[in-house]
Amino acid sequence: MTQERILVIGGGVAGMQAAAALREEGFQPFIIEKEKAAGGHVARWDRLFPTQLRAQEVIDRLSAGAEGIGSATGCEIVSLLPEADGVTAVAADGQRFEGRAAVVATGFDLFDARLKEEYGYGMYENVVTSAELERMFREGRVAMKSGEVPKRVAILHCVGSRDEKVGQNHCSKVCCITGIKQAIELTEAVPGVQVTNFYMDLRAFGNGYEELYRRSQVEHGVTYVRGRISEAGETLDKRIQLKVEDTLVGRPLRLTVDMLVLLVGMRAPGCCSSFGLPTQENGFFAPRDPYVETVASPVRGIYLAGTATGPKTIGETVNEALAVARRIKRDLAK
Ligand code: SF4
Repeated sequence: MTQERILVIGGGVAGMQAAAALREEGFQPFIIEKEKAAGGHVARWDRLFPTQLRAQEVIDRLSAGAEGIGSATGCEIVSLLPEADGVTAVAADGQRFEGRAAVVATGFDLFDARLKEEYGYGMYENVVTSAELERMFREGRVAMKSGEVPKRVAILHCVGSRDEKVGQNHCSKVCCITGIKQAIELTEAVPGVQVTNFYMDLRAFGNGYEELYRRSQVEHGVTYVRGRISEAGETLDKRIQLKVEDTLVGRPLRLTVDMLVLLVGMRAPGCCSSFGLPTQENGFFAPRDPYVETVASPVRGIYLAGTATGPKTIGETVNEALAVARRIKRDLAK
């Protein structure tokens, strides 16, 4: 059995699953993670759509599969150098890692909501991101900055996605269903809270997503308004005043809520421009072919998995991670 070393850049869902699958294929994977601990964004989430499974359960399963695999944490790779018989990854601190091949599983960054100044994130204390709401769920307490429990919450879709003004034209794919899930969880965490989702289009395409959308309305009383918030302002008592154009009835709306949640989208991380690999229009890494070569990069010896190539669900990410191991096995056997 071969024991060739394969570098796995990133220790999130894609990286952990790819490493486990590579070991099963007889390779010696080595995970390089820029954060102090593995797990990626999912490790910071509370529950997952569409079943509301605890995110920690997914992390525990993946960690068990990757147990014993060599890794370096707190180590950020800044360049990848393809060689005649392998790949060298160079870290920001100058460390070099050599492997027969490399899997780029670097994931995504969340959009910086401060770039949408009109929503007041970073200025108004009760404007939060979907990631911050998730942290409140994890901590078991949803509250305004003052400690009061919110009675009215607005969730705004497409923040930093489908938005030419901030150079993010792509749809982040999972935030509609995240907004639906979070609306339900708000009503579970704060009995009696009124939650309104403001959306451009609702994209609930996956298994169980439409059902969750219906359940949010029928069982949890969540309301949906097709329209964009044009502006958010702060009232004297720190609530958030919203100006909205209801695009279904063509009428402007004004309302005041206790908390505004911004569903921030996925954007390509900095490594997409520093690794020297081809990228797509949305800034994420480009696969060799988007139909039949989705886990190979155009550069020999370098492979791609998960959201390195664009927004994906956890299930899609896991499947790509399994596919990349099989693909490397096939290529290195040639
Ligand atoms: Fe907007 Fe929904 Fe697409 Fe996210 S998934 S970018 S919220 S349309």
